Amino acid sequence: MPEATLESPARAAAAAAAQTAMQRLARRTRGFDARVAHAEALLREAADDHAGRIVQVTSLGVEGMVLTDMLARLQLPVAVATIDTGALHAETLALIDRIPARYGIEVEVFRPQAEAVLQFLGRHGAHAMRTSVELRRACCALRKLEPMQRLLAGRSAWVSGLRREQGATRSEVPFFALQDDGREKFCPLADWSEADVWEYVRRHDPPTNPLHDHGYPSIGCAPCTRAVAAGEDARAGRWWWEQGEAKECGLHLRAAWTTA
Ligand code: SF4
Repeated sequence: MPEATLESPARAAAAAAAQTAMQRLARRTRGFDARVAHAEALLREAADDHAGRIVQVTSLGVEGMVLTDMLARLQLPVAVATIDTGALHAETLALIDRIPARYGIEVEVFRPQAEAVLQFLGRHGAHAMRTSVELRRACCALRKLEPMQRLLAGRSAWVSGLRREQGATRSEVPFFALQDDGREKFCPLADWSEADVWEYVRRHDPPTNPLHDHGYPSIGCAPCTRAVAAGEDARAGRWWWEQGEAKECGLHLRAAWTTA
């Protein structure tokens, strides 16, 4: 067998590994421009309906960066906020400063109550989330849900980067929903594919987390996120020791909203 044939698969694998997520995934598919236009129209409508009382909640993943870029391009008066759980990757934290540098938008950063986190760590240890779903949810409640309540206080609506394609727990995400708490939630990227998201990045070049280039399609807290293999579900690397419906932190539980 010729040497070139023997080396081709390895060379192809090495070439794929050297590509950025954008180089691997960006693709203009049928309907892309219409999906962008729809997302922008929904953001405009949300900003109009909730002037001064609406916030984009970003986890600083690529979908969040796409939405922040849209808000900036369209100059919409929507605040941008994130939750620093105290357990994020350094690469994720670094993005917080890149947003004002790029867009002139200050990111509101909400953090968990330090004393509550210390008590939890003292009682259950640093790896409690691996021992049971209940303790993992308790950690998410402390580090994410409680700060989220403060983040949403005084606001009537929020914007999220959820996409239906992200896995079974998100397969029915609506563009717009009325939550049990009376707030409206907008998901302008609900019908976007991963290729759409990276095609948008290719066109507009928002800052993105370098972990996306290393096999992390979905990025959460460092102890609870790992890279995924080719072909795996986008959220397979989140709480990978758990299965099914449990694999959400509680910020986006389906039971908490109804489509309107
Ligand atoms: S994702 Fe993991 S570290 Fe982060 S809040 Fe949830 S359980 Fe805790």
